[in-house]
Amino acid sequence: MTKPSNSIDTTRRNVVKGGAAVAVIAVAPGITLRTLEANAAVKGPIGPVTNAKRWGMLIDANAPEGVWDLAIDACKTEQGWGVPAKDANPSTDPQWIRKVSIKDPKTGAKATLPVMCQHCANPPCVDVCPTGASMKRADGIVLVDKHICIGCRYCMMACPYSARSFVHEDVSGQKPYMPRGKGTVESCTFCVHRVDRGRKPACVEALNKAGSNAIMFGDLNDPKSDIARAVAKFITRRIRSDLGVEPGIHYRGI
Ligand code: SF4
Ligand code: SF4
Repeated sequence: MTKPSNSIDTTRRNVVKGGAAVAVIAVAPGITLRTLEANAAVKGPIGPVTNAKRWGMLIDANAPEGVWDLAIDACKTEQGWGVPAKDANPSTDPQWIRKVSIKDPKTGAKATLPVMCQHCANPPCVDVCPTGASMKRADGIVLVDKHICIGCRYCMMACPYSARSFVHEDVSGQKPYMPRGKGTVESCTFCVHRVDRGRKPACVEALNKAGSNAIMFGDLNDPKSDIARAVAKFITRRIRSDLGVEPGIHYRGI
């Protein structure tokens, strides 16, 4: 039977260095049996993904700069990108979450804030992806399916926030719930493996443990949620809101 011209070629990609090739069967866009198997390793119930929720963050740029290092370290540990690749080039370091310094040209006021994938409602990274690897879930989480990413990097060029990075070197220290692969693109997942189990992203949890609420995470669609109340209460901005991509990350203090 002839394959429809718009079908996705889900040719397997062995993304685990040194591992045996694992059959990957797509059961839904971006969800494979292997994904489900990996998720099963994370404890807790998993619920349906619907557009009833819109996951988002509120980041307080007034927080002391040191907390962002805590968040970055937590992300590295959770997602397994903290193990430096042999002969890695610092200019190609992973960009899951990074510190960015800004200065108001009018007032001279400075701030440092963390920037990660903004989980845009209208994500240009998804629009340009030729394979469907770059995708947005109904609840607003934007992901890359490593199994069908061909490493063309169109999404990296399209992202206005430089939130994605390309894996140039062999990787080690991978987590079962977050396969990484040389030759593929990656970015912040909103810790989807945790969120789907009713847990907070690792960066948020690390800050909470340190007594900081500088990054809030929650359902922006729920007017009773802490994050929705805070967004309604404080003056907040989204970076480059003029672009119309509708980021899911809001900032205070910028
Ligand atoms: Fe895509 Fe960049 Fe928006 Fe993330 S921040 S959803 S990578 S366009
Ligand atoms: Fe990293 Fe998870 Fe925080 Fe995203 S939500 S920056 S993947 S720890």
